[in-house]
Amino acid sequence: MQGKRFSREELFRVRNQVSINEVIEEIVDLPCKIRDGHLRFVCPVCSESNTATNPKTNLARCFRCRKNFNPIDMVMLVRGAGFVEAVQCLKEHL
Ligand SMILES: [Zn+2]
Repeated sequence: MQGKRFSREELFRVRNQVSINEVIEEIVDLPCKIRDGHLRFVCPVCSESNTATNPKTNLARCFRCRKNFNPIDMVMLVRGAGFVEAVQCLKEHL
């Protein structure tokens, strides 16, 4: 893994062009459901569902943890993956 670097453009694309909903529903396969028009997922940090995704910013938010997760964060957290591994995984979904 050492020496593998990604360009800014590649990182921008994996953060913004792999939809956060697809990441949650299909890539990391977190338990989730649509409620009041928002995708609610089980937070990988606190295990509660006081959460929502925002398709405009492509971020997932946990209101309890007061944290936002981008697609890279999600893959790292749920899979216990490193940064490089998470980016490579997401690149396959571009
Ligand atoms: Zn949380």
